[in-house]
Amino acid sequence: MSNPPKIAWIGLGIMGSPMSENLIKAGYPVTGFTLEQPKLDRLAAAGGTVAGSVAEAVRDADVIVTMVPASPQVEAIAYGADGILENARSGALLIDMSSITPQTSVGLAANAAEKGIRVLDAPVSGGEAGAVEAVLSIMVGGERADFDEARPLFDALGKTIVLCGPHGSGQTVKAANQLIVAVNIQACAEAVVFLEKSGVDLAAALEVLGGGLAGSTVLARKKDNFLNRDFKPGFRIDLHHKDMGIVTDAARAVGAALPVGAVVAQLVASLRAQGDGGLDHSALLRSVERLSGDQV
Ligand code: NAD
Repeated sequence: MSNPPKIAWIGLGIMGSPMSENLIKAGYPVTGFTLEQPKLDRLAAAGGTVAGSVAEAVRDADVIVTMVPASPQVEAIAYGADGILENARSGALLIDMSSITPQTSVGLAANAAEKGIRVLDAPVSGGEAGAVEAVLSIMVGGERADFDEARPLFDALGKTIVLCGPHGSGQTVKAANQLIVAVNIQACAEAVVFLEKSGVDLAAALEVLGGGLAGSTVLARKKDNFLNRDFKPGFRIDLHHKDMGIVTDAARAVGAALPVGAVVAQLVASLRAQGDGGLDHSALLRSVERLSGDQV
């Protein structure tokens, strides 16, 4: 790549680390900041530059990517004296890839515009594996010209990349994504408990189910989690709880009923209340097991 844009990457967690490394592999110079030292060491080992603060990371950047847990963290790194809006240069492009409320994205775009900073909301789907393999779905909200400018960067991170509409649209689509994923995991978890209690070979059952209409990316990606009771995240229940809150609020605001989604949101909340918030969302299986009388 001749003269690639300079990237600042804020938030090097389960998703941010492999995604930023894919940009480095694609030839982008990446300067990163996050809260955990081991993640900063990992960035340096991958060929990135470590910054000591948000302000230092973004000062010279052409493009700033944020990948942090939720709306409060996005607002904390965007606003304030050490934040992006005070320290990035006018004309920079801020791409927030975190999953947050659509209203936060709309507000951020308006506030950034006053500083001459352009914003895209660009949440992703595909999980940790999708991040590592650079096959994420990226759902984008914002201006077409900014989307076109960011397209080569998105191509280094994902496979299905779609501009969904104005600011906040990417987040609205991501909220729908999280509704579908949670309901799908819950259905798979119920099938797993039913199959096991029926004495059927679970591995054989999940293999054949995966090839029919019941097959899904969720089943393919989470099959081994179910089989091995391996609930290392992945995507934490805590984060899916946040996302079920986003989708139920957003649906209420537009008068859309989500009867099944509302039940699954309660099951996610209950799992979290039982101390399983740090587990992968495939741990919804534990909730079904408990409801079915198993001691887990
Ligand atoms: P994570 O908790 O693993 O990582 C979040 C990172 O943000 C951490 O490294 C933390 O240090 C950093 N951070 C938080 N506050 C910060 C601050 N003030 N300054 C600098 N860095 C800060 O989370 P994750 O699983 O990588 O998820 C990130 C986002 O992506 C979330 O919005 C999540 O909903 C979304 N997402 C996650 C997955 C997944 O499978 N994990 C899939 C799709 C979307």
